[in-house]
Amino acid sequence: MLPENTLEWGRAGSCIRELSEYGAMRKKEIGEDNVFDFSIGSPSIPAPDCVNDSIAELIKGDSLSLHGYTTAAGLPSLRERIAEDLNERFGINIGIKNLYVTCGAAASLAISLKAIMLQGEEVIVPAPFFPEYRVFVEACGGVVVTVAPRADMQIDLEGVKNALTDKTKALIINSPNNPSGAIFDEENLRGLAELLNEHREKTGNTVYIISDEPYRELVFTDAVCHSVVEFYDDTIMCYSFSKSLSVPGERIGYIAVSDRMKSGAEVYDSILGAGRCLGYINPPSLFQRVIERSIGQTSDVEKYRENREVLCRGLRDIGYEFTEPDGAFYLFVKALEPDAKAFSAKAMKHELLLVPSDDFGCTGYVRVAYCVSRKTIESSMPAFKALMDEYK
Ligand code: PLP
Repeated sequence: MLPENTLEWGRAGSCIRELSEYGAMRKKEIGEDNVFDFSIGSPSIPAPDCVNDSIAELIKGDSLSLHGYTTAAGLPSLRERIAEDLNERFGINIGIKNLYVTCGAAASLAISLKAIMLQGEEVIVPAPFFPEYRVFVEACGGVVVTVAPRADMQIDLEGVKNALTDKTKALIINSPNNPSGAIFDEENLRGLAELLNEHREKTGNTVYIISDEPYRELVFTDAVCHSVVEFYDDTIMCYSFSKSLSVPGERIGYIAVSDRMKSGAEVYDSILGAGRCLGYINPPSLFQRVIERSIGQTSDVEKYRENREVLCRGLRDIGYEFTEPDGAFYLFVKALEPDAKAFSAKAMKHELLLVPSDDFGCTGYVRVAYCVSRKTIESSMPAFKALMDEYK
């Protein structure tokens, strides 16, 4: 007998990866230029030079230490650099004992949840959200409670208030958001903090905010990308260098526990234990050193800004509806019928690969990942137009 949940997650797979694999197959059949694959959020801009230059430099050094084990929480020198960077950005005061370096945001989230969740406790997740949250929460015996978004894709605070119960342990937020591209504004984040502080005063229960921030550097408007750690003491920040440095396959990120969290030392110890029981010994040693030399740098994310403009303009002219995204590299477009899966299937007939919103926790939208070439966006417009015409 095998565990039901792992069997189910393994067999169900991810709708995003399935679409992307279909895209790869279809490209072989009908040619690269004839498939408009907007399915997967994989960076399309090369890593900045500092990444490859650091690798070239580092491999000249002592091989044993370069490829050896590091401290489980990550190299102290790397954690010092990350702490300096975060303190400067967000006016906090963390040190290396608040930081745990991970194999990317997925590991950061899985470890953070494992560190705080007890069986049967609830995690509030404002929709739309990254589908893997559900797997990470349920793997710890937790229950996901979703809250529908406001029309402008900010967090619906009234909805969060109604979702709070005695069993609420955490809330996961993600800004800039995958899939909506929304950046939660200061008022929204302060309102959320106030709400959870009132809940603690009333019930004695602390609700941790897990702030998933892998798109923090991908901001394309004058919106300010705050982190909720600025406003809420019980914040666990989960970060990844996958998107900002275009290194998703290298698996590197971190968890930062707020220095203002009363139970911070205990939560940090539990994070060490969670990483250990999930089998993380340390993140890749070479890449810890590469990151240490690359803090503060990003790939040339301006290219995504151009893509965003071309895509938004093109789809608006055809008549599609969406909320202008502020960041990340996603556009969340209203499907032309209530059933997003049926709409996505119709789009496939035009060789357009768009992810239906159901797995993101809400119905009636598709996600368009515009981390593709400018040419793909431009040449996809007749297909988007033909799709629209089908509904006229
Ligand atoms: N969180 C969000 C919102 C994401 O979009 C992703 C990846 O696309 C992740 C977490 C996982 O990131 P990583 O590849 O660093 O594990």
